[in-house]
Amino acid sequence: MCVFTTHTPVPAGHDKFPWDLVTPVLGPRRADLLQRSQCCIGGTLNMTYLALRFSRYVNGVALLHEQVSESMFPGYPIDAITNGVHAPTWVSRPFSELFDRHIPNWPRSPQYMRYALGIPRAEIRKAHAAAKAELLVEVQLRTGRELNPDVFTIGFARRATGYKRAGLFFSDLERLRRIVRSGRPMQVVLAGLAHPNDVSGQDMIRAVFRAAEELGDELPVVYLEGYNMALARFMVSGVDVWLNTPLKPYEASGTSGMKAALNGVPSLSVVDGWWYEGLLEGVTGWAIGPVGRNVTQSDEQLERDDMYGKLENTILPLFYDDPDGYAAVMRHAIALNGSFFNAQRMLEQYVTSAYHHAREAAHADDFRMG
Ligand SMILES: *Cc1c(COP(=O)(O)O)cnc(C)c1O
Repeated sequence: MCVFTTHTPVPAGHDKFPWDLVTPVLGPRRADLLQRSQCCIGGTLNMTYLALRFSRYVNGVALLHEQVSESMFPGYPIDAITNGVHAPTWVSRPFSELFDRHIPNWPRSPQYMRYALGIPRAEIRKAHAAAKAELLVEVQLRTGRELNPDVFTIGFARRATGYKRAGLFFSDLERLRRIVRSGRPMQVVLAGLAHPNDVSGQDMIRAVFRAAEELGDELPVVYLEGYNMALARFMVSGVDVWLNTPLKPYEASGTSGMKAALNGVPSLSVVDGWWYEGLLEGVTGWAIGPVGRNVTQSDEQLERDDMYGKLENTILPLFYDDPDGYAAVMRHAIALNGSFFNAQRMLEQYVTSAYHHAREAAHADDFRMG
């Protein structure tokens, strides 16, 4: 009757316990059973193999993650149920009011967000301007910095840990200066906490602070402290694009980009995790680097060039020169991605694919065994 969801390709997400801890804790009888069940690899109790061995149904949290997991654990059939976020929690106040008027049953059935395609672009722009104003008030309260509501605003908030690569955007400050000097300004709002033992995560935050200092007022960068859900709600709705630069293939799903999509904020992201499914280039947002499912490793130089190139040549011109065109992308983010990458759809898939399947299989076994 067990169902196992594997959550990440990052090794720290797969607990292993040394065998000389297992016997004293569980006792020799259970330890012996575990040993015989082949979930002890290389002298350790491997919780992932324990779950794989004893579950009837195993899934990853996005289509690409299913593929990555199958190559990590050969011989175990793995399905995919792509993550989703809880729409009523993540939709900002201005967009809640807008959806209430146009799509009254959106909170219980966010699938209906597909009808956002019928909302006039001017109303999308107005709701977004209100959400952006709320974010800028929050930034001012927390940091004293006054950001300009007319300036293209990039958002980035993640746990500050190695594979999330918060530093990629700041890896070529000269290039960033050239872009904003060409007359299309940008500003950046970041947040993210590092685990107290994660030295490289803490270094990443320091590097962002150094870059922010160097860029000064030419490209304002604010780093907000104490990243939590309340702050995330302001950020994912108040920026103009949601940036994500994880090192492939470690982003199993990613969820903050889904929160942004619910608020009409398109993603500019490395094509890993959910973005492999959510990306329609130029329609719901933009890719950083190759889009295919076969390119499973990051090429940092190529991704950096593509990120700067897309900003300079595609995204900033659209934002400043064709605001209605930009609003069309925002609307597609809601209609195509908000309507799908939500917890309602995800739970329904768990019920029909995972729980129902495991129960039927268990009943079939009971029948066979009399
Ligand atoms: C959504 C969220 C996360 C996870 O975001 P990812 O894009 O999946 O990394 C982490 N922390 C907070 C506070 C969040 O709101």
